[in-house]
Amino acid sequence: MLMNKEVDVLICGAGPTGLTLALVLAQRGVSFRLIEKMEAAFHGSRGKGLQPRTLEIFEDVGILEKIMAAGGPYPPQREYQDDGSWRDSPTAEQRAPTASEPYSMPWMVPQFSTEAAMRAKLGELGHQVEFGCELIGLEPQAQGVNARVTGQDGEHLLRARYVVAADGGRSFVRSLLEIDFPGKTLGVRAVVADVSLQGLSRDVWHRFSGGAQERQIALCPLAGTDLFQLQAALAGDEQPDLSADGLTRMVSERTGRTDIAIVAVQWASVFQMHARLAQRYRVGRVLLAGDAAHVHPPTGGQGLNTSVQDAYNLAWKLAAVLAGAEETLLDTYEEERRPIAASMLGLSTRLLDEARRGEMRRGREVQQLDLGYPGSSLALEMPVRRQGLMAGDRAPDAPVATLSGAPRRLFELFRGTHWTLIGFHVQPARAPQADDLQVHLFGPGGNLADVSGHFRDAYGLENGDWVLVRPDGYIGAIVASDNLEALMNYLQRAGVSAHREE
Ligand SMILES: Cc1cc2nc3c(=O)[nH]c(=O)nc-3n(C[C@H](O)[C@H](O)[C@H](O)COP(=O)(O)OP(=O)(O)OC[C@H]3O[C@@H](n4cnc5c(N)ncnc54)[C@H](O)[C@@H]3O)c2cc1C
Repeated sequence: MLMNKEVDVLICGAGPTGLTLALVLAQRGVSFRLIEKMEAAFHGSRGKGLQPRTLEIFEDVGILEKIMAAGGPYPPQREYQDDGSWRDSPTAEQRAPTASEPYSMPWMVPQFSTEAAMRAKLGELGHQVEFGCELIGLEPQAQGVNARVTGQDGEHLLRARYVVAADGGRSFVRSLLEIDFPGKTLGVRAVVADVSLQGLSRDVWHRFSGGAQERQIALCPLAGTDLFQLQAALAGDEQPDLSADGLTRMVSERTGRTDIAIVAVQWASVFQMHARLAQRYRVGRVLLAGDAAHVHPPTGGQGLNTSVQDAYNLAWKLAAVLAGAEETLLDTYEEERRPIAASMLGLSTRLLDEARRGEMRRGREVQQLDLGYPGSSLALEMPVRRQGLMAGDRAPDAPVATLSGAPRRLFELFRGTHWTLIGFHVQPARAPQADDLQVHLFGPGGNLADVSGHFRDAYGLENGDWVLVRPDGYIGAIVASDNLEALMNYLQRAGVSAHREE
C-alpha cells in the first residue's frame, strides 16, 4: 500500500460542511486534503434555504456575490384548498435589513449551486475536491491519524494530524468510532425531486395541503434555475414511481389537477426523517461536523446552515492549534456547537409537527442570528455585564467611518482570518499588538468614527471598554481597561501572542 505525504487535516466528505472547512483552512494556509467518495459533484437541490447568519459567513469567506447571483428571494407560498381556492402568504416573516443585521431574509439557492460556488472559490485558492476517493479505515496514532483511502489508483495510506468527518448523516467515521447517535426516527418518509414541469407559475411556492399529511405535495420554483423542487410525504412504506410519468400521476392524485405535467426529473430521492445528535463530537484527533454530528427534518431549513456554521466554528480553532495554540481550544468546538444542534433538533421537529397540521410559520428563530456561545469557556467578561451585548454573542455589523470620512462596515473590518480588537474611548497607547490582531479605536486618538451612533447602539459599551471579536465573528471578550491583563491571557490561550508597549 502506498503511503502519501502527511497533511495537517484530512477532510472526509465534500458536502457543504467539508467545503466550508476547506475554504477557511485554505485561506489560513493550512495543508489539507478534501476527499469525496462520489465520482462527481452532488446535483440535488436539497438544502435550498440559506439563512441570514449563513449569508454573513459567506460574506466573510468571499463567496457571497456568487451565492447571490446563483439564487433569489423566497416567493410567497400559495396554499390550495380542496375546492381549488387558495390563499397566499409570505413564506417567512418579512423584515428589512438593519445597520446591525445586513441580511434579514433567507436566500434560496439550490444546494448544488451553493456547493459549486464553494468549489469555485476553493479552486481560486489553489485547491480542489478529490472525487472518487473514499475513506475506508482510520487508525489513531500518538501525533496523528493514519487513514486508509481508496480511489482510482488503488488503496493508499494517508497520514494526517487531524481528521474531520464531514461525511453526512450516515457517517462512516461516526460508526467506525462507535459514537452513539441517539434520537428518534420520526415516522415520516418523503420524496424530494428536482423537476421540470408545465402547468404551474413560478411566482409562488405551490402547496397543496388539504387533508392528511400523506396527501400533501409542494412544488417550489427553484431560484436561479428553470426547475421546481417537489416535496411530498409518503404513506407507510409507499414506494413512489420517481419517473416523470410517475410523479405526474402523484401530482394529479394529490391535487386533483390534470393540467400539471412533470416533463423531466433531474434528481429524485426518498428519505426518512430522523432527529439524532452524536453523543460526542470528538474522539482524540478525529472530529465530527455537519450532518455526521446531527440529523433532523428539513422543516425550517436548518441542516445545511447549522453544518456550515459547525465548520466555520471548527476551522479557525483547528488552524490555531496546528499553529501552536493549546489543544484544549479544540474542546470548545463541541462545547459550543453541540448545544446549538440540540436546540435546532427541537426547533425543526416542532416545525415538522406544525407542517403536519398545515400551519408552519418560520419566525426569527430559524434565521440563526440570535445563536451564540454565551457561557462558553471562550467567553470572557470583566466585569460581568448585566445587559446589552454579551461575550459569546454574534458580533453585530455597524456602519462606521474612517477619520477621512470614508464609509466602512464593521463586517468589512472583521473579514479575513484575523481577530479584531475594538477600543471605545480608551488610551490608544495601551492597545495590545499581535500579527493576527487588528485593532480599531473609537474616540480621541482613534481611527474610526461612530457617525450615526450605530456602533454605540449595537455594542452598548462604556468609555474605556475593549471588545474582542473572534475570527468567526462572535464576541470573545468584553473587558474594561483595568482588565487588559485578562485579555492578554485570553489571547494567549487562543494562540495569539500579543504584547503591549508600556
Ligand atoms: C429534502 C431536504 C431538504 C433540505 N432542506 C434544507 C434547507 O432548506 N436548508 C438547510 O439548511 N438544510 C436543508 N437540508 C439539509 C442539508 O441538505 C444537509 O444538512 C447538508 O447537506 C449537510 O451537509 P454535510 O456536508 O454535513 O453532509 P452531506 O451533504 O451529506 O455531505 C457528505 C458527503 O460525504 C461524502 N462521504 C460519505 N462517506 C464518505 C467516505 N467514507 N469517504 C469520502 N466521502 C464520503 C458523501 O458522498 C457526501 O458527499 C435538507 C435536506 C433534505 C433531505
